[in-house]
Amino acid sequence: MNQEDVLQLFKQSNALLSGHFKLSSGRHSDIYYEKFTLLKQPSLCTRICEEMARRFSGSGAVTVVGPTTGGIIIAYDVARYMGIEAIYAEPGDQGRVFKRGFSLDRGQKIVIVDDVLTTGRSVFEVIDLVKRYQANIVGIGLMLDRSNGTVVFEYPYFALAKVSAESWAPDECPLCAQGIEITQRGSRKFRS
Ligand SMILES: [Zn+2]
Repeated sequence: MNQEDVLQLFKQSNALLSGHFKLSSGRHSDIYYEKFTLLKQPSLCTRICEEMARRFSGSGAVTVVGPTTGGIIIAYDVARYMGIEAIYAEPGDQGRVFKRGFSLDRGQKIVIVDDVLTTGRSVFEVIDLVKRYQANIVGIGLMLDRSNGTVVFEYPYFALAKVSAESWAPDECPLCAQGIEITQRGSRKFRS
């Protein structure tokens, strides 16, 4: 499965939309990614998880770690394909923590998965958590990278697809300047 196939799944699930959107930051953008639109469709989502698992084959990982909430779904399914265990990093007072009796051994080989890379914050939090246990991070896998190359990890990592999304302050938004109405989420399919 190559980047085009993966993007096709995102489009097919209507997770990736083009138009004129107001982001939660207040900025305007031409692309909107609604990750749960894909995650709520297991028959599509699982195909991406299968590809992630395939890319991790030979890594020697014995555990997949994913951050709440989307990362739980992905970690579970990737681990299922790899025949290994999945554990989840939940929000703590500072950064992420393991709850529910989850733990890692020193040197234990793990991979980290998440759905979308924007600032990398959740992945960096998982890295910090895993380092506290001195586990061995042998790979990081993302479904979609929309960081525009601004996020770099010091571990082997891949994103199955990349999109470049621009965003602007509302008073500098060229789509507003063109008088284009703000798109209601989900009302329009992504056009390639
Ligand atoms: Zn605008």
